[in-house]
Amino acid sequence: MEPVLRVETLQKPVKIASMELLRNRRNFLVRVRTDDGAEGIGVPNAMHLVHTYPIFLNRVAPFFVGKDARQFEPLLWELYRHNDNYKYQGLAFWVCVAAAEFAVLDLLGKLAGKSVGELLGGVLRREIAVYRASGNRGNTPEEEVAYLKQIVAESGAKALKFRLGGRMSKNADSLPGRTEKLIPLVREAFGKEMTLYADSNSSYDVPKAIAIGRLMEEYGYAFYEEPCPFDHLEDTKAVADALRIPVAAGEQEFSEYRFRWTIANRGVDIVQPDLHYYGGFIRSLRVARMAHTAGMLCTPHMSGSGLGYLDAAHFASCIPNPVPFTEFKGDSDIPVTSETSTLKVENGVVKVPSSPGFGITIDPAFIRQAVKVTTF
Ligand SMILES: [Mg+2]
Repeated sequence: MEPVLRVETLQKPVKIASMELLRNRRNFLVRVRTDDGAEGIGVPNAMHLVHTYPIFLNRVAPFFVGKDARQFEPLLWELYRHNDNYKYQGLAFWVCVAAAEFAVLDLLGKLAGKSVGELLGGVLRREIAVYRASGNRGNTPEEEVAYLKQIVAESGAKALKFRLGGRMSKNADSLPGRTEKLIPLVREAFGKEMTLYADSNSSYDVPKAIAIGRLMEEYGYAFYEEPCPFDHLEDTKAVADALRIPVAAGEQEFSEYRFRWTIANRGVDIVQPDLHYYGGFIRSLRVARMAHTAGMLCTPHMSGSGLGYLDAAHFASCIPNPVPFTEFKGDSDIPVTSETSTLKVENGVVKVPSSPGFGITIDPAFIRQAVKVTTF
């Protein structure tokens, strides 16, 4: 596979002198510095790093000190082998690797004068049409429609996603009959023009998943996310095979070989690596490219916390095969500005920053007030 990270213009080694984890209340930052004073900052997934940060501090960050940041992509394999890190493989490990990667990409981008997308093969689009997603379950279909109207109105989004079923619930709904009522109700409320996605979060066995999928087909839904338990690849494929509506999944996947199997065997129709849970942009782009080769689409799963919306937009700017709408989940409590984007959804579209690295400025006071996290 061709390398994802393109750093040919950086002719001198970019030796990493330090990689620190900083914390400001609920949020984390990773700061990477070189011997000659260059700096990159990444915003990791705080929601999970708060539990897994010892892996970052003990197993990931020290590995990169003294290494050439330009070699980040080949070093991913060495890091995976290092100290038996592969035994920790899963979200707990890869969230920490993504934390390191984001800071390194910011550093390399600033040194090369390139945005993240330009470093990763080239920016194909700067305007990203977004969908808004609801995280609700257990409310009535009428309450959910009212909520969806509110989040769509504040963003002008032309697509939305909501939740079906009961989440890992062996066919039980979050409220009896909610899903069967909600699927037609949302279509009626928003009309033919709205693109609708829905996510069952691994709720169903095969027969129930197919029955719900048929209802979504009847009402013209555009994808059906995680119909069956996420690691039940055979059941998920059986549902994807049986339905016309595209089945999407992958937010829980952490194995490149399993993504490869899923793509080669059409176990889903749309792959959804999570930029944090799956270990960063480079690994996720490899999945997107595999899917593209197989004629499939890819969309980043967006986890909460950090600057997930910005990460998803950068990713969608440089993959060859995005779905028409990319997830955008509210605002972050990290004070951040950009010279090249408002970072807001306007008329259903967010503009991807084009300045070097992530193209943003985190309020210096926020960084100053952050404290260095250490292990004992
Ligand atoms: Mg999901």
